[in-house]
Amino acid sequence: MTTVVVGGGILGTTLAARLSAGGRRVVLIEAHRFGSGTSAASFAWINAGNKHPESYYRLNLAGVREYLAERPPGYRNSGRLEWATAPAHAADLERRMATLTARGYRAEWVDPRRIAPELPTAPDRAAFFPDEGVLHPAETVAYRCAEARRYGARLVEGRAVTSLRSDEAGAVVTLDDGETLAADQVVVAAGTVTPRLLGAATPLCDHESVGAPGVGLLLRATVPGLRLRQVVFTSSVHVRPDGPDGLIAQALDLDAQVDPQKEYHPGHPTAEEIIARVRALLGTDAVTARSLVVGHRPLPADGLPIAGWTDPHRRIYAFVTHSGVTLAPVLARMVAAELAGEPQEPLAAYRPQRFATSTAPPVAAPRRPGEQ
Ligand SMILES: Cc1cc2nc3c(=O)[nH]c(=O)nc-3n(C[C@H](O)[C@H](O)[C@H](O)COP(=O)(O)OP(=O)(O)OC[C@H]3O[C@@H](n4cnc5c(N)ncnc54)[C@H](O)[C@@H]3O)c2cc1C
Repeated sequence: MTTVVVGGGILGTTLAARLSAGGRRVVLIEAHRFGSGTSAASFAWINAGNKHPESYYRLNLAGVREYLAERPPGYRNSGRLEWATAPAHAADLERRMATLTARGYRAEWVDPRRIAPELPTAPDRAAFFPDEGVLHPAETVAYRCAEARRYGARLVEGRAVTSLRSDEAGAVVTLDDGETLAADQVVVAAGTVTPRLLGAATPLCDHESVGAPGVGLLLRATVPGLRLRQVVFTSSVHVRPDGPDGLIAQALDLDAQVDPQKEYHPGHPTAEEIIARVRALLGTDAVTARSLVVGHRPLPADGLPIAGWTDPHRRIYAFVTHSGVTLAPVLARMVAAELAGEPQEPLAAYRPQRFATSTAPPVAAPRRPGEQ
């Protein structure tokens, strides 16, 4: 049984590692470099803190728990602090805390200076989410690739899949150099590029226009001696640690102006604005921008994952989602089971076929603190 996985981001590599560890013959094909797509431009916060509806919350919670149990290279159980300085955010945070504690999510009000003494501007009360974490996607993707190789997978980098076809006997995958591969099953985990291969089965939100829901700006900065270990959300900025002396920051309200067709550089006025907010949070001027990148969210039209067969012969499977960092391990486990012929009830709501009849309104852009 040969499975071709198209796309070497966090979803494709996690699935390829799991399938090969389970004894499958796997070919993983990546058009550029492994982990170089959206997974390289992600805030990569692992959470279930603001997910709707409840079934999607439960899926993300399973993702959080899967990381806590496995702790793969690149993962850290950082916890997250959040406090509000704007009234609308304060009301929203109170509401989220009430919902989350009622659901049994680990969330408590704390004195943030006790948990993160290096935050001099913190108030005396903040929400704390101890089970949340962060990923360093490049490290985790490299680990998943190494695992897949160790179990015998063939990994192909720098070659794109240009077309797919299937019939009762199997599937055929064509690469950009004309080579064709025969497969029993093909999983397309090509992120924002998935619709080019699967068309209307995988409709995604716009990620190519100014301020589109799929567009998000991330700033990487250096702060010498930074000791911050937690993810921190305030009303004006989200930050997370990123290696020694490093952090990643985002200001969701500024995403509305971002033009994904432009190159952004650390001297851009938007970078200056985010830096000013980070300096105010950390109470230091020693924050310098390293890079400013535009991320493209593979955000399905209704905001929920897409996981399921796209063809009548059940040979070509779509695997695309936002929150893919949080969801990669739990979804990879379920998708692997479905490929082995064991339908997974939690995935029933996420079939591509729902878009043929869907009346769901288009998903709103994440612009408010606490969203992603
Ligand atoms: C600004 C921003 C912040 C985010 N923050 C979070 C967060 O905090 N928490 C969270 O859980 N998620 C977050 N996400 C979402 C998360 O990053 C994505 O859901 C996840 O990275 C998607 O992974 P992927 O493997 O599906 O896609 P990708 O990482 O894009 O991988 C797909 C790969 O497929 C390859 N490919 C494309 N076409 C072909 C082809 N024809 N042939 C071969 N290969 C092909 C690409 O080169 C690419 O490497 C964020 C996203 C953005 C943009």
